[in-house]
Amino acid sequence: AKADGRNTLHFFNQAMQDDANRRSRLEHDLRLALERDELELHLQPQVDAGERITGMEALLRWQHPELGRISPADFIPLAESSGLIIPLGDWVLAQACRLLAEWRREPAMARLGLAVNISPRQFRHPDFVAGLQRLLQDSGVDPARLELEITESLLIDDIEQTIGRMEQLRRLGLRFSLDDFGTGYASLGYLKRLPLSQLKIDQSFVRDLLRDPNDEAIVRTIIALGRSLDLQVIAEGVETAEQASRLQELGCTAFQGYWFGKPDSTRHWHARLSDQAET
Ligand code: C2E
Ligand code: CA
Ligand code: CA
Ligand code: CA
Repeated sequence: AKADGRNTLHFFNQAMQDDANRRSRLEHDLRLALERDELELHLQPQVDAGERITGMEALLRWQHPELGRISPADFIPLAESSGLIIPLGDWVLAQACRLLAEWRREPAMARLGLAVNISPRQFRHPDFVAGLQRLLQDSGVDPARLELEITESLLIDDIEQTIGRMEQLRRLGLRFSLDDFGTGYASLGYLKRLPLSQLKIDQSFVRDLLRDPNDEAIVRTIIALGRSLDLQVIAEGVETAEQASRLQELGCTAFQGYWFGKPDSTRHWHARLSDQAET
């Protein structure tokens, strides 16, 4: 039993070591990826109750030359802990503004909004507001087209600083959406103090909506909350027609998920939307 224990421990250490090696390799490679153009923004449509596309969410994709596609769920936390999220986040915002500037010239895209995920460390960086302001000025993009998706983790501490910064950006014309809503620890009391325009129902509540009465109750509550605070509510992770119609019945008016469109390249969506505009 003793020997077994030692083997287990050895195995465990080896697994931790492998994990640490993989992390530092990925971190190193991510730094290079930024310079080598291996990153790309994909777009996923957001639709209204009539299934018209009103905007897109930008989602990062990394095509690693040897390891293939790596999920942002893996490399974003790494970028956060290493600080690489600062140049990475700058890159995403610069690309987003470039896209929006391009869309202004295309009738099929001109009215679309673009939602960008902002990580807490990026949002708290002292240069965040000034940097974003400069980007918007240089690109000539209407700030109202850009929506920043933040999470409840920003509200756990430094709440006054967060609110102050949000208000600064709000005055520039930007909009805020609270992502993964219902999974974090935000006190509901703060919600009315935040200059938000939208709540995003987390996909974990949508997944079992038709089977789990608790999830339905949560979705119902979020929709009611949105209504009383005058916030748009969007459901994410909508994968089936049944989920979509149940959400409609519950009063949800905006949707995102595989059922309406999977994340795909900007090329793909530009072609799709221009085709639609012509026919
Ligand atoms: P998120 O912001 O909650 O994005 C939604 C995730 O759900 C995306 O995963 C999307 O591809 C996926 N998804 C969309 N519709 C469906 C559906 O119907 N069913 C299912 N099962 N999944 C769906 P993705 O692209 O792998 O991104 C994972 C997370 O990585 C994002 O979660 C976000 O937190 C982060 N992320 C992605 N891009 C960026 C970025 O540019 N900056 C930052 N800071 N974080 C990002
Ligand atoms: Ca998001
Ligand atoms: Ca989300
Ligand atoms: Ca998420």
